Amino acid sequence: MNRDDMLAAIRERQEPWDIVIIGGGATGLGSAMDAAARGFDVVLLEQADFAKGTSSRSTKLVHGGVRYLQQGNVSLVMEALKERGMLLRNAPHLVRDVAFIVPSYAWWESPFYGVGMKVYDLLAGRYGFGKSSNISREEVVEAIPSIQTEGLLGGTRYFDGQFDDARLAINLATTTFEQGGTLANYTQVVGFEKDPAGAIEGVLARDLESGEELRVQGRVVVNATGPFADGVRRLDRPDAAPMIAPSQGVHLVLDRSFLSGDSAIMVPHTDDGRVMFAIPWHDVVVVGTTDTPIESIDLEPRPQAEEVEFILETANRYLAKPVAASDIRSTFAGIRPLVKMGDGGSTAALSRDHTILVEPVSGLLTVAGGKWTTYRKMAEDVVDHALTLGDLEPRACVTQQFPIHGYHRNAERFGRLGFYGSDATEILGLAEADPAMGEPLHPRLAGTGAAVPWAARREMARTVDDVLARRTRALLFDAQAAIEAAPRAAAILGRELERDAAWVEEQVEAFTAIASGYLYRA
Ligand SMILES: Cc1cc2nc3c(=O)[nH]c(=O)nc-3n(C[C@H](O)[C@H](O)[C@H](O)COP(=O)(O)OP(=O)(O)OC[C@H]3O[C@@H](n4cnc5c(N)ncnc54)[C@H](O)[C@@H]3O)c2cc1C
Repeated sequence: MNRDDMLAAIRERQEPWDIVIIGGGATGLGSAMDAAARGFDVVLLEQADFAKGTSSRSTKLVHGGVRYLQQGNVSLVMEALKERGMLLRNAPHLVRDVAFIVPSYAWWESPFYGVGMKVYDLLAGRYGFGKSSNISREEVVEAIPSIQTEGLLGGTRYFDGQFDDARLAINLATTTFEQGGTLANYTQVVGFEKDPAGAIEGVLARDLESGEELRVQGRVVVNATGPFADGVRRLDRPDAAPMIAPSQGVHLVLDRSFLSGDSAIMVPHTDDGRVMFAIPWHDVVVVGTTDTPIESIDLEPRPQAEEVEFILETANRYLAKPVAASDIRSTFAGIRPLVKMGDGGSTAALSRDHTILVEPVSGLLTVAGGKWTTYRKMAEDVVDHALTLGDLEPRACVTQQFPIHGYHRNAERFGRLGFYGSDATEILGLAEADPAMGEPLHPRLAGTGAAVPWAARREMARTVDDVLARRTRALLFDAQAAIEAAPRAAAILGRELERDAAWVEEQVEAFTAIASGYLYRA
């Protein structure tokens, strides 16, 4: 994958693309991959980096959604559980099953949640990850030695999936490319081209690196811009009524001493009626999340102090070792692209299911809502709609059993490089060829220098943020260490992209500004 080649292909194309996709998050990348795998000519334009938006900021669960079970949304849970099973089959290097424990501190909790989890097992059917059961106090402590034992009576154990969201996004981009698709990051859609009747014929885009304007014609244009969907709809129709009710979710990242063992904790009812998780993820623990309605959409949303305090307070009820603000290694926020139903109210009650909307005059197809777990099904629906809308040749979806780039059944054998799947051997090769590249980027970070040339050469990384936030997950693992690693990462990236010293310096400054938003100072 090479950005210059992608832009050349876009520039040189004489006929309309079958499908133009705006937005390179889970929804857009999934749709691009589905379309390319069906043999359509597809191009995807992303204004920043792939997964820079919500798709790198999730709780990292591949799940049916226990919360939706509580709401009685059985069909949504069933669909997601089926997708969970397919994703494990198609990307085993990125998805793993994890034991979740709902600890009980009141007599009724184990019987109550035990029954709920049996329903969850039943809904998963043959896609099940493991049988749930009620377990004793001793078994809970054995699984999670660092749990708060005061008042602990026992618990319910069930199994769900966990993944690396940004890595999956990058692997979807590579798979799309391998299937003949074209993708450009840092290419923003700024307007639409229409025929005299007002039907969209293509988009106007800007290469944000060079400033070049690009005209990209398409038979169908898909708006897959998540929380930004209304902004793009207004480029088509300035009076479009909003369909997105944005809601922010925050996570804290702690070191593993706070949650020892391999099991996660699930709290089904926090004080504000949410579900909260503490989950081991790579070498850290992710704790979250919140659900705070917000007004403005930003590519770098900032956690609010009250959200962080709320998570700390909830975590301290369940973890034996007290967690203080100074223990937070990183904190990140994401914006849910929830689709509005009626007059709103709490965003926690809004639909997590996806919605496809086709503008009657222009034909712009907007897809929003859903979740990472169901990205494949959303993509299938998008491309099925696009076929009709663009009068394209009907071709069936093929992604149900379709290995995603990096597919490897025993990726654990590559240790900390496991999330690269089958690419891990090539990254190890880079480090062998140049031993300096085998050195960690920072003593507290697992990633080595070799991750940088790999990201630049093979994964279209353009900035230090692309490398440290999404190609490696350094920014989420430890924001201060990532800041300290930035000069070395920038120097290697600058060499790869043939940039000068001023560019390297600017990159370090820009990354430090972004990363300071991930440091929490009470
Ligand atoms: C806090 C939180 C926790 C979550 N946890 C989970 C979870 O554990 N499991 C799960 O399954 N789901 C989870 N989700 C949901 C899931 O993350 C989202 O549903 C999914 O990532 C949305 O992807 P998207 O592609 O629609 O949006 P995004 O990822 O935001 O992608 C939209 C993209 O469009 C781009 N864009 C915008 N405007 C333009 C333009 N004019 N031109 C070009 N590009 C443009 C943006 O830069 C962005 O990259 C969570 C969500 C949140 C917020």
